[in-house]
Amino acid sequence: MRNAIFIASALVIGLVLISIKFCSGIWTMKNKQLIDQVGTIQGVVDLFALPADTISQKTDDYIKEAQERIDQIIAIPTAERTFENTALALDRVVGLSNAAISEHIYEGLELLSPEEAVRNAAHQAMIKLRDFFVDHIMNNKKLYQAFKAYVEGNAKNESLNPEQRYFLHETMKDFERAGLNLPDEQLAQVKKLQKELTELALIFGRNIAQDNRTITVPRSALVGLEDDFIASLKKTDEGLYILGVDYPTYFNVMEHCSVEDTRRQLYLAFNNRAYPANESILKQIIAKRDELARFLGFASYAQLSIDSEMAKTPERSQEFIVDLIAKSKDKVKEEIKELTATLPESVELTADGKIKPWDFAYLKAMYKKGKFAIDERKIAEYFPMKKTVNELLAIYHQFLGVDFQEVPATGLWDDEVKVVKVSKDGKLLGILLLDLYPRPNKYSHAAHLTAVPAVYKNGESIPAVSVVMANFPKPTATKPSLLTRNDVNTFFHEFGHALHALLGRTLLASFAGTNTKMDFVELPSQMLEEWLWDKAILKKISGHYKTGEPLPDELIEKILKLKRLTSGSFVRQQGYLSLLALNYYKEGPDKDPYQLMKQLHDQLITDILFEPQNHFYASFGHLTEYGAKYYGYLWSKVFALDLFDEIKKHGLLNPAIGQKYIVDVIGKGGSQDPNELLCTFLGREPNNKAFLKDMGLLQQ
Ligand SMILES: [Zn+2]
Repeated sequence: MRNAIFIASALVIGLVLISIKFCSGIWTMKNKQLIDQVGTIQGVVDLFALPADTISQKTDDYIKEAQERIDQIIAIPTAERTFENTALALDRVVGLSNAAISEHIYEGLELLSPEEAVRNAAHQAMIKLRDFFVDHIMNNKKLYQAFKAYVEGNAKNESLNPEQRYFLHETMKDFERAGLNLPDEQLAQVKKLQKELTELALIFGRNIAQDNRTITVPRSALVGLEDDFIASLKKTDEGLYILGVDYPTYFNVMEHCSVEDTRRQLYLAFNNRAYPANESILKQIIAKRDELARFLGFASYAQLSIDSEMAKTPERSQEFIVDLIAKSKDKVKEEIKELTATLPESVELTADGKIKPWDFAYLKAMYKKGKFAIDERKIAEYFPMKKTVNELLAIYHQFLGVDFQEVPATGLWDDEVKVVKVSKDGKLLGILLLDLYPRPNKYSHAAHLTAVPAVYKNGESIPAVSVVMANFPKPTATKPSLLTRNDVNTFFHEFGHALHALLGRTLLASFAGTNTKMDFVELPSQMLEEWLWDKAILKKISGHYKTGEPLPDELIEKILKLKRLTSGSFVRQQGYLSLLALNYYKEGPDKDPYQLMKQLHDQLITDILFEPQNHFYASFGHLTEYGAKYYGYLWSKVFALDLFDEIKKHGLLNPAIGQKYIVDVIGKGGSQDPNELLCTFLGREPNNKAFLKDMGLLQQ
């Protein structure tokens, strides 16, 4: 009897375990599941409240757990395969397992934790997890064969919805792009190439990051720069001033220094970063990527690199860019004419009337100063942080029907981090963590991170966890935190990613929120930036920190005019860089990066001198990270403007169009081809008309 009771209770426990497993869609219950923590604020705080040694200890456990699940998927007999036990199971490991969630948490902690030990442990753990995902999932041939067996077998007879079908299609393509459909011998060569390429990309990036070349100049060579800036510069023993190639120094000097030789010297230093070290590295990367692409059945690396994107083919990207450059031609001419009508003292054109490349930014800055007399610091007085953020939330509330509620929480990595509950129609969408002020050792740019994706799990909506990080000026004893126009823009941009992450709720975690195509992911944020070029919105979000007065009309007019000041040159420059990247990765292993750059420059940028000592490509970091996809910046901007224009017709604060935007576009995350999302929303194919009009590029 005792025995029977024992067996009976074991069965009960078994059933309970099965039901828990089923509820959470998870097999083993050895480790607590992080995804189950997101229901409460404390649970979310606890996700991040990790001492360094816990991070290291747990990572191995999480990897083991994920590996077990992958092995279980592989072990299922072909006849028993279903969407749930094969495809959904894989999606859950990749998107919702402890390994997946902790990878995002560690990414956040590495960027944000004030404790060095935590940052280091998070960094190590993240690398371990990424290696695991690449080696044991993305490159797992047995897993691919199991998945393929399902796709070509039972999936054909299972009733699946479009999102599920799209997942099968996209996952198969991913496996094939990794070469898993190749015979073992060829696959081994693909893996060898990929490994070599990873190494080369690391060296390429490191050479850029570690190039700290400087120029030294006497005080008299710094005319035009502010005293504070000059005082902050280091000096040599001989008393010469040291100018580095870091971005703030470079742009400051290029825009404001009225000594031509200083600008010229720094231009040459900046455009020779990582040269000559990266010359041969880049050639090797291009050759090996070409070889890799051909192994994988593609004509070129550009084709391989764009195959998974919204643009789909290099031909389409190229055509798109070439068209924009052609349409910017007249506007560029006007701009150059205007900027060079009266030359400032230190600027001379070449004998054949070209602008020297180190003079362009200076010309533009001087023109702005003379014609617009805009002082960005004065404008910032109209954007005190509190008012601006409140108004921004009010705009999202009205347009998208989203509610924000700040809630108290303690225990996060820094006390200044704000915790905001985000909900819609009374339902919790997720938790947003705002880390907005600088502090030592914090990531120095702005970014958004999805820590937990927005998904439906067993029909239930799971709250997402999103982090927005930025470095806005802190309040002082006499002034509140005042945002520059650039800061406000950054806030709108990163907040746009957060809303995409919170509202883009899908069945599959792999498609949640910002898990979209790379040439589409910036689009929702770029679209929201456009709000800041609308007079009524500018009035609404501004309020002088002393008087509460909104931005005066006259200032707004100036700001709006500035938008088009050099819009043609901007499009041409971005187009030039896009074509450069596309050309480097066109068919063929042997490319001369310098000659290709020179040819393209000669062909497109006829009014700016080509400086033969310019080796910019050696520090063009996007060439490794983005491959041929630099075009994505203009691509998503063009379609962002198309969407914005449509929304503006209905009113920027019109909740009906906001709702349609959620339903048709951001609410879908990556679960549908973005070309289709845009077509549905616009009721037609997207085009570049609104962009051309906005940029002043439409020929009259
Ligand atoms: Zn972005």
